[in-house]
Amino acid sequence: MNIFEVLKKLGMDKWLWQQEGIIDHGKERKLSGTQPIRAVIAVTIHFFQNTNKEFFDQLVKLTTDGKLNRELDLQFGEVQIQETDTRYRTPRIINDTRTIQLHETFLSYQWCITYAIYTLYVETIDYPKINAEHGKIVNPISPDKIEKAKEVFDYGRFLIRVFDQWDKDLLPNPERYNAADRNYIEQTNILFTEGIKFILCHEVAHAKKHLDNLPDEDCPSCFQEMEYDADNEAIDNILQGANGNKFILELGVVIGILSMIFFRSTTNGTKHPNIEDRLTNALNRMKVNEDSIAWAFACIGLELWDEQFDLKFDWKAKGTITFKDLYFSVIGQIKSK
Ligand SMILES: [Zn+2]
Repeated sequence: MNIFEVLKKLGMDKWLWQQEGIIDHGKERKLSGTQPIRAVIAVTIHFFQNTNKEFFDQLVKLTTDGKLNRELDLQFGEVQIQETDTRYRTPRIINDTRTIQLHETFLSYQWCITYAIYTLYVETIDYPKINAEHGKIVNPISPDKIEKAKEVFDYGRFLIRVFDQWDKDLLPNPERYNAADRNYIEQTNILFTEGIKFILCHEVAHAKKHLDNLPDEDCPSCFQEMEYDADNEAIDNILQGANGNKFILELGVVIGILSMIFFRSTTNGTKHPNIEDRLTNALNRMKVNEDSIAWAFACIGLELWDEQFDLKFDWKAKGTITFKDLYFSVIGQIKSK
């Protein structure tokens, strides 16, 4: 099935060619959940189940072998991501029931992060570069879009600790938006589905390879190894489904890993590898090109994190070196903190 057939099947094709006015997915069909993210949940799960040609069969086999519960535990509710002092409503697999849990608020958060990174890439890196190449303004920069990107990022990161309604009139969101802005919203939707695909494939890898023989509790490095293994298995499954869109898949993986960084001002893990190490491992595993925009996406994510926690990294080289070099310069600074 191509994207249009998928959308038709999901009843999402009516607005496909709409160029003006308001697009309102909540009005067109009954959606589960109350947060605007509900508009893209079905399509996100569809693309996850079809990560590559054999992936759906792999999922079926895992469920018949008792390694994975066939129901995805999709949780709804207007609550913040933080559940207790130490528990978060982040995607996870429950060891006993082999059920993958995914909460609506986490999905909202992830969409906001994705929108911010994508829009800041377009408005602060891509458009200025195109304009410079042409020696004139081909794509005008929108200060309003940049500001909204920061606002939606702030809304998303606050969801970690405090739940608040997502204002569909004021903030970019996937449910109700002006057709004139659809490009930003819908490109974000694509990157969002890819990011969630990575996160879910990571949990599936745990179900398939790890839950039957979990490492010893007092071996943190064994847990870290298990996490890299799940990342690598997820990446391999995702790249196996590439058909001319590898760069989009790469961006999805980068955003999927970056999603964890905005929870804390440090990246150090005990049972989990440091986030920057997972990111570098993933970029290597995907054999990302020198000039891939994945490096720029990673840098924007790190810069948002720097601003969020006032980490004072040195970004002076930005614009004078490649994003790959900038990425490793910042990683070096994280390491030396
Ligand atoms: Zn894991």
